Parts: sequence; structure tokens; C-alpha cells
Amino acid sequence: MAVSHHAAGGARVDHGVVAGTFSLDGETHDVDNNIWVVGDDSEVIVIDAPHDVDAILGVVGDRRVKAIVCTHAHDDHVRVAPELRKRTSAPILLHPDDRPLWELTHVDELWDVDLSDGQEIAVGGTTLTVLHTPGHAPGAVCLHAPELGVVFTGDTLFNGGPGATGRSFSDRPTIEASIKARLFALPGDTVVHTGHGDDTTIAAEMTNLT
Ligand SMILES: [Zn+2]
Repeated sequence: MAVSHHAAGGARVDHGVVAGTFSLDGETHDVDNNIWVVGDDSEVIVIDAPHDVDAILGVVGDRRVKAIVCTHAHDDHVRVAPELRKRTSAPILLHPDDRPLWELTHVDELWDVDLSDGQEIAVGGTTLTVLHTPGHAPGAVCLHAPELGVVFTGDTLFNGGPGATGRSFSDRPTIEASIKARLFALPGDTVVHTGHGDDTTIAAEMTNLT
């Protein structure tokens, strides 16, 4: 009897969108968040945990979740991270500089593993490198997957320019410095998968922020 084999080296990016709210500084806004899942047929990492665990697990399918990697700790990105951890037994990873934001949403439980600049996360035969890019939030990170030609930017860089810096714990000069030093150093054809809204490329955004 023939046995079928999955092709090797099948790392890919899967995507969903989920609606919810974002609250900070006493205001609440409706937001659509992107769900990004990176891996192969057997294991994945989930980038951010917005709004709805079932929607995230719908993108994951029957694959094992190896880690929940948070780009930053605004509530629309981490609200269901502990529930997703409970459902999958996967650890939550966050840059420790975002602790003050995390504690606005989760008062009695923490994340599991600190992210640090230059850290490498292996999944499904490929590797993502952590880029610490403060500005939108002090512990904001981007995740560069060079073999896939993509970078996941959370709310640091959108299609059209830098993420918002008008609220607490944000700083405009800092985000611009992060983008110019770290993201604009990536190949221009790198596809940017954002926390909200459409994809862009590094080259396209270099024309939006000079
Ligand atoms: Zn944010």
C-alpha cells in the first residue's frame, strides 16, 4: 500500500482577519486585526492574539502551535493570548519593555518568554529573526523571515507609513528611527505583513517616509 509523504521545506504564511476593539487612554475604537500564522503542515507560530481564539485556531487548523509571538502588548494584539496559551499549551513571547502595556490588559498573568533583539525563532523549516523596533510601543518588535521574503511589522509600519504614536508609551522620533535603521535595511522587495490592513513592501514605504 502506498504511503503519501508531504513535501519537505513547506513553510508558508496563512492569514485571517478578525474584528474587535482597541482601548487605551480612556478611548475605545473598533479595529480589524490581521492574524498571521507561519509554519509548515505540522507546526506553526502565531503572531499576535487578537480578539477571538476560535478565529485564530481556524487559521492554525490541526497543526501544533509552537509559540504565540506578540509584536507588542496593546490589548487588540494580546487580549486572548492567555486563552490561546491555555488551548494550545504554547508559550507566549513578548519583549519585556512592553510590560506596562501588558499589565493594562492582564493583571494576574504574565507571558512566558522574553523576546530580545536578534533572537531567532525556528518553525517549519524556516527562521524568523526578532527586530526590536520601539516607537509605537517600547517593546514593539518586527519579525523578519528572510527565506520567505517577508517581515511582520505589527503596528510599527503600515501600508502608508509608520504606526500611530499619539497615545501613551509611544514616540514619533523613536518609531521613525526604528523604521529607518532596522526595516529600511531589509531588501526592498520584502513583503510587509502588517498588524492592520493591507500588505506593502519595504521599497514602497521608503517613498512614504524620507
Ligand atoms: Zn498597537
